Amino acid sequence: MASDWKLVIHGGAGGIERKSMTPDKDREVRAGLDRALQAGEQVLAGGGRALDAVAAAVCVLEDDPNFNAGRGSVFTWDETHELDASVMDGSTLAAGAVTGVSTTKSAVGLARAVLEKSPHVFLSHEGADRFAREQGLEQVANSYFSTPERRQQLERLKAHKVSALEVEYKFGTVGAVALDASGHVAAATSTGGMTGKRWGRIGDSPIIGAGTYADDRACAVSATGHGEHFIRVGVAHEICARIRLAGQSPQAAADAVMAEVKGLGGEGGVILVTPGGKTIYAFNSAGMYRGTASASGRSVAIYSDER
Ligand code: ASP
Repeated sequence: MASDWKLVIHGGAGGIERKSMTPDKDREVRAGLDRALQAGEQVLAGGGRALDAVAAAVCVLEDDPNFNAGRGSVFTWDETHELDASVMDGSTLAAGAVTGVSTTKSAVGLARAVLEKSPHVFLSHEGADRFAREQGLEQVANSYFSTPERRQQLERLKAHKVSALEVEYKFGTVGAVALDASGHVAAATSTGGMTGKRWGRIGDSPIIGAGTYADDRACAVSATGHGEHFIRVGVAHEICARIRLAGQSPQAAADAVMAEVKGLGGEGGVILVTPGGKTIYAFNSAGMYRGTASASGRSVAIYSDER
């Protein structure tokens, strides 16, 4: 059955207020979000699949150094980058995820290859990069992901013994959810994780059910925020389960789950799209980089008072 296509993206949530953004940064972020929407829109408007659209949109955000994914990823404690990503197709519940990726240019492209070309769901570290090379995916030096701004954030974290959120006022993970014209939903998320992470720490973004989930019987979800809390709540699957099993409205389900995250002390947000075409943002932080596209146009927003 033909439906109207929809696309929603995020570029992270957190203490994003007008006073913490320069006019240049504000412009660059909006332009980056718009480019990602255009990439997804191109797929969906041409009758393409939701899975292709979310991967295309996230890939654009990975290449943009303003976001914490791909180039511009945060530094680990050991001054390297370990990237995480996941994708899920709501029509089949097929999923692919990777963690600790260090030489594959597009973590979301690799997660997608895991979904389509491997018998597995979740690959990690060197093995994930080896699989990427076997699939012919573009490889880069780990330093390709570095930017001076991210290096300074790590230096401040170490010098002042502060947390990741104190050196960067927000989470910068990127994600997309889409509904295609055939009525199927999909979700994708990609991140560098949290500044100064060590001991092989893994957040929610590559965990199917925590940072990403898609099910045509409920909705598609991508999250950003303090991963430990999102894992404990099982955020993305919990939202789908509340819609599917408890009959909650998508907004009520998303709000209730984000309240649970907040109750545990976690900050962040989620984006959703349902097979019926409802698009939703829910965040318990001051702002969220976000955008939406449909046949009636594109819009991007940063602050909580923007619609
Ligand atoms: N959720 C990510 C993590 O915990 C961080 C983010 O959203 O920026 O790794």
